[in-house]
Amino acid sequence: MVEKRDYYEVLGVTREASVTEIKKVYRKIAIENHPDRNPGDEEAVNRFKEASEAYDVLSNPEKKAKYDRYGHAGLGAGGGNSQFHDVSDIFEAFGDIFGFGGGRRGGRSRGPARGDHLQTSLEIDLLEAAFGCQKTIKIKRNKLCSTCDGSGAKPGSSPETCEYCQGAGQVVQSQGFFRMQTTCPNCGGEGTVIADKCNTCWGAGFEKEETELTPDIPPGVDNGTQIVLRGQGNPGKGGGPRGDLYVQIIVKDHPLFQREGSHLICRVPITFSQAALGAEIEIPVLGGKKKLSIPAGTQPHDTIRLAGLGITDPHTHRTGDLHVELHVEVPKKLNDEQERLLRELAEHDHVNVGVKRKSFWGHVKEFIHWDSDESSKEED
Ligand SMILES: [Zn+2]
Ligand SMILES: [Zn+2]
Repeated sequence: MVEKRDYYEVLGVTREASVTEIKKVYRKIAIENHPDRNPGDEEAVNRFKEASEAYDVLSNPEKKAKYDRYGHAGLGAGGGNSQFHDVSDIFEAFGDIFGFGGGRRGGRSRGPARGDHLQTSLEIDLLEAAFGCQKTIKIKRNKLCSTCDGSGAKPGSSPETCEYCQGAGQVVQSQGFFRMQTTCPNCGGEGTVIADKCNTCWGAGFEKEETELTPDIPPGVDNGTQIVLRGQGNPGKGGGPRGDLYVQIIVKDHPLFQREGSHLICRVPITFSQAALGAEIEIPVLGGKKKLSIPAGTQPHDTIRLAGLGITDPHTHRTGDLHVELHVEVPKKLNDEQERLLRELAEHDHVNVGVKRKSFWGHVKEFIHWDSDESSKEED
């Protein structure tokens, strides 16, 4: 049993290397030791497998974390990834990073390629985000051409094997010591060419369609949450499966609630007398209202926490709290009775207050004998 090498050592990267860096390094090692470029070289194949295994672990945050903590033992039986029985498994898993795009290679078909992933966004309000909802999304995507069923060839004819690459989709070019594998310029990597193109899609095999989907948006989603609708992207060429549709959730701001993760914050105005004497008030909660007792002696910006009245986190299933921030509001204007009572209070408290005077608008009114327009005085 050969001692397993450290994955970081295999790829020659530090523990701090980013996923992009790891991918870049792996791609280089993989291309150098590519079995197609090193026929009969067992060591190259082993290096290729070793690097692929290291890449599989280090490019996956979950596996990487386990490996960082427990080493090879942390990854279960076999230590590394035992899913790679042979080289073709590796292409199956990582083919896309070689730029083969899941197409054909080495004259051997890996099956039809998956179609493109698509992306869209969906705007919902806070209640919909909190409780989940069903929303209709309109998207434009490809569907298989109805005339040629996706082959791209005129009905009655079919795509032919590319003569340039003999169907491999890749060609090897030699330049001195270097052998470079590139996409076949004749067929664009398809391995086939269409002599007689379908008149509807002009060989593409696809038509545009506008379609509506009504996915379930799970409760608890937040701004920026991405929902994946598997198999709702574009169809693949040659009968390949559809890619996925990524839906970016945008949660609209709510006039009453501010969201912080699974917690909600609601600012509620109270009067000085309510703060001083205590009160029972009605406050909004998600999807309704609730009575809340304010204790006597409440200070400006005091917060009352109502456990479990926030949003349920879809991953941890824990429900956040509602934080009610009490804002003691000072009245901007008083009626005569209110003013009289406050002055009495001030006298009682032995505090100096401003002398009673007519307001600015009171003077204006007297000055120009207006008595109809009170609205300019209102600020709220
Ligand atoms: Zn067609
Ligand atoms: Zn070709």
